Amino acid sequence: MEVTVRRTINGIFWILVYLALVMAPLFVMLIGPERPGRGFWREFSVALGFAGLGMMGLQFLLTTRFQTITAPYGIDVVYHFHRQITFVALVLILAHPVILLVETPGMLRMLNPFAGLNLVNIGLLSVLALVLLVALSVWRRGFRLRYEPWRLTHGLLATAAVVLAMVHVTMVGYYINTPDKRTLWIIMAALWIGSLVYIRIIKPLYLLTRPYKVAEVIPERGEASTLVIRPDGHRGMTFKPGQFVWLTVGSLPLFLSEHPFSISSSAMKNGAVELTIKKLGDWSSRVSEIQPGTRAYLDGPYGAFSLDMEVADGYVFLAGGVGITPIVGMLRTMADRQDRRPVQLYYGSKDFESATFREELDELKHKLNLDVVYVLEEPHEGWEGERGYITPELLARHLPEDRLTRHYFICGPVPMLNAVTRALNLLGVPQEQVHSEPFNMV
Ligand SMILES: Cc1cc2nc3c(=O)[nH]c(=O)nc-3n(C[C@H](O)[C@H](O)[C@H](O)COP(=O)(O)OP(=O)(O)OC[C@H]3O[C@@H](n4cnc5c(N)ncnc54)[C@H](O)[C@@H]3O)c2cc1C
Repeated sequence: MEVTVRRTINGIFWILVYLALVMAPLFVMLIGPERPGRGFWREFSVALGFAGLGMMGLQFLLTTRFQTITAPYGIDVVYHFHRQITFVALVLILAHPVILLVETPGMLRMLNPFAGLNLVNIGLLSVLALVLLVALSVWRRGFRLRYEPWRLTHGLLATAAVVLAMVHVTMVGYYINTPDKRTLWIIMAALWIGSLVYIRIIKPLYLLTRPYKVAEVIPERGEASTLVIRPDGHRGMTFKPGQFVWLTVGSLPLFLSEHPFSISSSAMKNGAVELTIKKLGDWSSRVSEIQPGTRAYLDGPYGAFSLDMEVADGYVFLAGGVGITPIVGMLRTMADRQDRRPVQLYYGSKDFESATFREELDELKHKLNLDVVYVLEEPHEGWEGERGYITPELLARHLPEDRLTRHYFICGPVPMLNAVTRALNLLGVPQEQVHSEPFNMV
């Protein structure tokens, strides 16, 4: 309970910090003497532009993955916020030129792209970069843009949008024409650029000083492979069961080639970390070919999807396909800790053959107070267990009597997460006891 209260207070604190930082550019506007002749609409449009720019600048800070900021919400929620707030920033930033043009139609003359890089054109280029960034993010799959080139373009466009907007404000000059305005402006710019330098340079250089090595590659059921990764020359990381890391393997952490994976090993084993990766796309399909001895880098641990963060008298785990990985990590940890709290696992799989960790789950039943319900989409002949998907009716048949006091951890594809969350909702499980880990953050 104490952990939850502390997390809520931290969560509220960081929201207030966020609001203060977004509002900071507006204070820049308000400081100093008012210049006559600037009507309400002009100042209002500038205020909207500044608020939008404040949000865009802070996007760099949101993606730094600072544990203190992400821990109260979970990093997926922070990324979700990062995505959604861009739409708000875009509307505010677009409103700035639109209101100015409606208020002073004569300004249309200044929209001449051939007139050189004047302050209007620089502002327009910034807006263009932002529009392109949003379009590429929304329609990435439609454009058939692979994740890695998208991520590179995304970073470049975001930097261009913010830097050009800052140049635009500097060229306008009016809002940085006193020492206090300039000081505040420099502090904000330093925060934004500093976050960018941290993510792209400082963090990767730090990871380079803490290399790991792939010690083993173990084939698993369900077209998956487990990478056993050991620290090379340092003590490795400590993590909470259920958390995840960003893995770079076979290249340097400077090249944006990292992928997120849940840790499937026990948090009680010092040193090695195990990641179980299913063949899914171009990169993950080559994991089984990785040679032992290959250099790897781990950024983490991250995430709030952990039984250590939600203390309860009993748990229900619900996994879809390879979503079993953080859950098996939690079960292995419970076994190492000789934790006898009751746990029920619902494991949705295509068929029994491809249920990753099937044999180990059988063994864990002897070490833990564990009950496993397999739900197979395509069961083999003679299968007497559950079939289809995890539905409210299926849950109602199996959930234990103390269902309303247990904490629920769901991991798998997003449609499964949504369906199971709705089912639990229907069964009266309080929302704050339901925790989920979507495997697609972008
Ligand atoms: C918190 C978290 C934990 C995960 N844990 C596991 C796990 O334990 N086991 C497992 O098999 N999978 C896990 N995944 C999913 C895994 O990260 C993706 O399947 C993998 O990155 C796909 O890469 P790909 O290039 O092979 O596939 P692609 O077909 O190229 O990509 C498929 C989709 O995966 C996402 N993706 C691709 N590359 C990245 C990247 N570098 N960073 C973020 N997203 C990316 C994109 O949405 C992309 O559209 C996890 C994902 C998240 C967010």
